[in-house]
Amino acid sequence: MPKVNLSLPAVRIREIRINSITGYQGDAEELVSASPRGLKDKNRSFSQCLGCSTSKAACMTVLIQDGAVISHGPVGCAACLHEFAFTYRVNSPLRGVEKPAPRRIFSTNLQEKDTVYGGAVKLAAAIREVRERTGANAIFVLTTCAAGIIGDDVESVCEEAEEELGVPIVPIFCEGFRSKVWTTGFDAAYHGIARKLIKPPRERRADVINVINFWGSDVFKDWFAPFGAKPNYITPYSTTESLAYSSEAAATVQACSTLGSYLGAVLEQDFGVPELPSAPPYGIAQTDRWFRALGKLLGKEEAAEKVIAEKKEKFIPRIEELRGKLEGKTAYVTAGAAHGHALLDLCGELGLNAVGAAIFHHDPVYDSGREENDQLAQRVRDYGSVPNFNVCNKQEFELVNALNKIRPDVLLARHGGMTLWGAKLGIPSLLIGDEHHGMGYEGIINYGERLLDAIENDEFVKNLREHSVNPYTDWWLEQEPHYFLQGGAGIQAVQGGAGK
Ligand code: SF4
Repeated sequence: MPKVNLSLPAVRIREIRINSITGYQGDAEELVSASPRGLKDKNRSFSQCLGCSTSKAACMTVLIQDGAVISHGPVGCAACLHEFAFTYRVNSPLRGVEKPAPRRIFSTNLQEKDTVYGGAVKLAAAIREVRERTGANAIFVLTTCAAGIIGDDVESVCEEAEEELGVPIVPIFCEGFRSKVWTTGFDAAYHGIARKLIKPPRERRADVINVINFWGSDVFKDWFAPFGAKPNYITPYSTTESLAYSSEAAATVQACSTLGSYLGAVLEQDFGVPELPSAPPYGIAQTDRWFRALGKLLGKEEAAEKVIAEKKEKFIPRIEELRGKLEGKTAYVTAGAAHGHALLDLCGELGLNAVGAAIFHHDPVYDSGREENDQLAQRVRDYGSVPNFNVCNKQEFELVNALNKIRPDVLLARHGGMTLWGAKLGIPSLLIGDEHHGMGYEGIINYGERLLDAIENDEFVKNLREHSVNPYTDWWLEQEPHYFLQGGAGIQAVQGGAGK
């Protein structure tokens, strides 16, 4: 079955579509070499709370400037949509958006009675009211577990509302229980956007390149200028109009292969926009490859060589200086999949010894099917393997266990809530939300300086360690991090009826 099929209302989930997994313990090289042969996921006999696809779908819709979002479900499911309030305020200047439109987030607030009689009437009324109150040019309807379980016909309600109101009403099927891999929520949002918003191209534009990203700073404006192009950022801070004609761009690039895997493939396969056959530019060797691949795709190889030469002349001396200061320090990384691999690239480039990683899930292959998009394979090739490589499904108890044993000189994280565990153990911990901060040659310097700063200024975390209470027992900290993962001692004990 094709990976991309826009005739279906819902996207095929990631574990079925591209065989993604949420549990692994070993080293990075072994994972890379096993990936083409297909991976079998491992279950845990115990887990803490998990991420939900709804929040990832929200992440890709609530920042669309002229849209509105309705969470169709109990009001609690909409709580995670508001986490983007902070992002919205803090990151808009990085993108040069002076006055971001206020977020428009609503919930149908399904009650117990609705789960008996159905929530379709409530949803239809909510769509009408949201359109009236906000004048949004598109309304995204995110489904939740409750709506999925009672079997509301969300597709039909949206179609009828679209006919009545004359604007796209985009159903996004992202119930938390639908997939074990929370990044399926990104795919679900992109699937809805591609079905309802993206239009066939009127022309091909050599001066526009799609950038599928989160909310990182506007580095691509300067990078694309020598190629005579400008970025079309998808989807945070975009508009329904800019999304509609993303089909006309000369190419699509990704800030993170995990994030944009599905939409990159949709734009290529259904709208003819080629996806750059390269993992994002983290580390010197990969940045070289990325600019060369871009030059080749655009037929501007000379421009690419010029950019590479100029940038290297400017930035390499400072990179070497930082490498001299960081060489031999140990680092541990925790992040979502491909961005975690990118952080491991930065460690490799800066001479840090990556002694482990807790990565939230693993995609053995992306929707493009191209090996060149695989950031972990490239990391292993360029800088070597990473031991203690744990695919942890954001299970913080595994992270704490590993950090407590490994005690790296620094922890690099991408998600709030993860750095605190390093800090409580007295480990300098760095969290950078701007995913473009580490990109390109200059990004290596950005990260190197921040890492150095974090490592040298460790008084705070040392004090914190003295005054922190670790909620985990000594018993747990003495076990292996994968104790509860299939193959670990814990799951065997549970299966044998002697669970702890
Ligand atoms: S959609 Fe499901 S998993 Fe997500 S917050 Fe609601 S109930 Fe929880």
